[in-house]
Amino acid sequence: MGHLSDRLAAVRERALHAYSLRAGTGNGLRIVCVTKGRSLASVEEVVQAGALEIGENYLQEALKKGVFRLRDQYGILVRFIGRIQSNKLSRVMREFDALDSLEERLLSELAPATLSGEVRIKEFLLEINAGGEQQKGGITLERVRELFAGRKQPLPSFVSGFMAVVPLEATMGERTALYESVYEVFREVQERDASPAFTILSMGTSDDYELAITCGANMVRVGTALFGPR
Ligand SMILES: *Cc1c(COP(=O)(O)O)cnc(C)c1O
Repeated sequence: MGHLSDRLAAVRERALHAYSLRAGTGNGLRIVCVTKGRSLASVEEVVQAGALEIGENYLQEALKKGVFRLRDQYGILVRFIGRIQSNKLSRVMREFDALDSLEERLLSELAPATLSGEVRIKEFLLEINAGGEQQKGGITLERVRELFAGRKQPLPSFVSGFMAVVPLEATMGERTALYESVYEVFREVQERDASPAFTILSMGTSDDYELAITCGANMVRVGTALFGPR
């Protein structure tokens, strides 16, 4: 597959090309390198090649591997993108720079008053389970609409955006429809709440990041396209 730095350059080029085709581009495109199951050496290699953000799914793995040392050395952002267990929450809040997999139940728990000085996380994204899959985390689009679109309540102001996941088996046509729906709700929330901090739309992985960008993503999460199959 060639060098990791070449693959990162290729992903970046394709992603930026897709981003440039969109009307009204936003704050710039961000690429998150997903490093679950990868060695520290691979993570360091991609960081040295210029990656600015990495995503980890498990607290224990991230600690054991030592990605936080890399963060301190290179100034990258380490994002938590996995299923969050209640008993690990406070540690996740202290170690990571961003939490992209926020669940509905945490919205009230994490209200600003309960956020102590121990919190390192700067960006919280609400995870959207776009396909409504039972076994996956995240809030459905129907539920987001029900809770926040009807102007019943604004989305808490500490939420900076959405991270959407789609079914693995979904076709490109189905993904297009799902990503477009997520973008629509994202825009609704942006317009209604007019929160200047609500700007991030993370959607698209190795299989479909160009498509997701075309549908409105400004953050993508890429693992296998960089590191090979897991
Ligand atoms: C593993 C993972 C990815 C990366 O998927 P690839 O197909 O390897 O690019 C993206 N997002 C989440 C939430 C993941 O768990």
